[in-house]
Amino acid sequence: MKITLPDNSVKEMPAGASAADVAASIGPGLARAAIGAIADYGHGPVTLDLAAPLAGDCHLRILTEKNEEALTILRHSTAHVMAEAICKLWPQTRLVYGPPVEDGYYYDIDLEHRLRPEDFEKIEAEMAKIVAEDRPFTRYEMSREDGLAKVRREGNPYKVENAERAKGDKLSFYVTGPEPGKYWEDLCMGTHVPRTGRIAAFKVLNVSGAFLHGDASKQQLQRVYGTAFFNRKQLAEHLARLEEAKKRDHRKIGQELGLFTVDPLVGAGLILWKPKGAIVRLLLEEHLRGKLRENGYQPVYTPHIGRLDLYRTSGHFPYYRDAQFPPLYESDSARILNELWVAIAEATPADGWPRAAETLLEELKIEDHNTWAQLTGADEGVPPAKRIQRSPEARESNLAIIRERLSGNDGYLLKPMNCPHHMRIYASDPHSYRDLPVRLAEFGTVYRYEQSGEVSGMTRVRGFTQDDAHLFCTPEQLQDEMASCLRLTRYVLEVLGLKDYRVRVGLHDPNDPKFIKNPQAWAESEAAVRTAVAHSGMSATEEVGEAAFYGPKIDFVVKDCIGREWQLGTVQADYNNPVRFGLEYVGRDNRLHRPVMIHRAPFGSMERFVGILIEHFEGAFPLWLAPVQVVVANISEKSDTYAREVLAALKAAGLRAELDDSAEKIGPKKHRARQMKVPWIAVVGEQEAAARAVNANDREGKRQENMPLEKFVALLTTENRPGSEQGR
Ligand SMILES: [Zn+2]
Ligand SMILES: [Zn+2]
Repeated sequence: MKITLPDNSVKEMPAGASAADVAASIGPGLARAAIGAIADYGHGPVTLDLAAPLAGDCHLRILTEKNEEALTILRHSTAHVMAEAICKLWPQTRLVYGPPVEDGYYYDIDLEHRLRPEDFEKIEAEMAKIVAEDRPFTRYEMSREDGLAKVRREGNPYKVENAERAKGDKLSFYVTGPEPGKYWEDLCMGTHVPRTGRIAAFKVLNVSGAFLHGDASKQQLQRVYGTAFFNRKQLAEHLARLEEAKKRDHRKIGQELGLFTVDPLVGAGLILWKPKGAIVRLLLEEHLRGKLRENGYQPVYTPHIGRLDLYRTSGHFPYYRDAQFPPLYESDSARILNELWVAIAEATPADGWPRAAETLLEELKIEDHNTWAQLTGADEGVPPAKRIQRSPEARESNLAIIRERLSGNDGYLLKPMNCPHHMRIYASDPHSYRDLPVRLAEFGTVYRYEQSGEVSGMTRVRGFTQDDAHLFCTPEQLQDEMASCLRLTRYVLEVLGLKDYRVRVGLHDPNDPKFIKNPQAWAESEAAVRTAVAHSGMSATEEVGEAAFYGPKIDFVVKDCIGREWQLGTVQADYNNPVRFGLEYVGRDNRLHRPVMIHRAPFGSMERFVGILIEHFEGAFPLWLAPVQVVVANISEKSDTYAREVLAALKAAGLRAELDDSAEKIGPKKHRARQMKVPWIAVVGEQEAAARAVNANDREGKRQENMPLEKFVALLTTENRPGSEQGR
């Protein structure tokens, strides 16, 4: 076999050699360090056990601790070890499924005993024994039939289901030990580390409820999460980061500071912005609106719903149905006609005339006899060309006939995106190349139907407002427009102190059919995007295959102050929607041309962005964003009158000030204001009143000084603008 290594050198290996043999032939150091391998036989990379015999000529990459992929293998292997430990402690445990996830792994189990954090130590102690025994992971295979019989004999219905769902004519099992029959084993496709001893550092983290296949009507399970690393230091750092993240959790801080709430009566994933959170959002929006005006954007407003036909045009309906709230129908017959349209649209020629279509016609006959008669030809007054033909060849005409019927009696979709509405605004006027670029901006609210298990805080929601805009330009203008979108995004991130970011350029993969076929457009637009990024001087990585299907895109990946990465602003070029919507402009040559559209949203969504800001600042917003900027705390009622004067002076200067004139002592008052993350506390007593001064205390407890009232007002006023506090 010819094995091509990453440096393009080729090793000749005997048939049946494994990745471990290849590693050993390179050197004893690599043989010791190897964890697994990635082989490519010509149809994409596959992860392999070190011991697995290679199937033939391939490109091979040996994975060591340094590779990200090795960590995934380690974590999945740790899931096996944890499952064995749990089964040993609670032999009645029925295992379900245990994949690696970002930052760790989990195993779903069915066990009557509710696992509690107190149990984790016991589990970890059992795991430590298995790791200390340094057992090999051994794979063996059985024919599908024999394997199924074995799993059925063992009697775990979940594993039976997994085995039935598994693809291929073989089932594979992994023994945590040198041979089958004597050690714990699990039905699994792999990949695993060579020996349990490689699991140097691990931790069982938590347990939560989960449903089988995420389906709330199915069996309730326990999902046990854990993580693993190749060394203890990395684990310790990871645990410290988790602690820090827990402290910063925007759901917790949002509740404590009264920023937002989610109410089951209103609905999961639907954010209610409370007054204090709404101020933060309003200030961000106002600031961005100002910037948009400076950059030649025009604000527009559009409604929250649109006709299904709009989304048939854009392609959102019916293809993204699972991610959307169900449509709102004007009438039963509109529902039936739309479902009929979908049934015909989604049928393949091999399906013939879809049965579902026939059922729907029956339903239509009862609900709307007239329309039924006209569509089916029972009403002979209707010309044959306007009738449905029960044949897959008539698909296109059938769809057109139904679509025509739906004008004036259609369904509506909650807006999943703002682009279709904005394109219709563009299309409502004729355009010349002289008017371009047209930049339409809207804080547009959109709705997506996230599964209930996925909904969380402000970051995974069902309704959110994008700081959206669509730019329509000539192909020649694309580069400059992309560049200006990049500048704007950088500005809004940096003004919030989010200065640690990288840029990811998503390019298309010419071999992947999901990307639109338009080589010229890809060549032009990718060149434009690359140049725009290069001129910006930002550090960027290019990722082939990560473009949107309709054009290249640029994502900002922002690191927050505890090192977590968030994907924020995105800028995308779109060559597809202008075609779908027939957008045009008159060019210099007096002929009609197609504009290019850019979608861009620097924040992404207001909900997610504010959620991230809450975590980044740990609720301590910079002064210009703080819901309450200063609390006036008076020492006793003797200084009440003066405290009110101070409050009035601060408010007159446009500052968000509150008075704490409760009967409490000054210590608790300061403490409470700091807990609410108020940037400044102005303590006033008789002394201050006599001197017309305040005792200014900052939130961090670093600064405490007496200063004249005017000076204090001036200090806060200077600080009260975007970006000014960053250097403090
Ligand atoms: Zn496994
Ligand atoms: Zn868009």
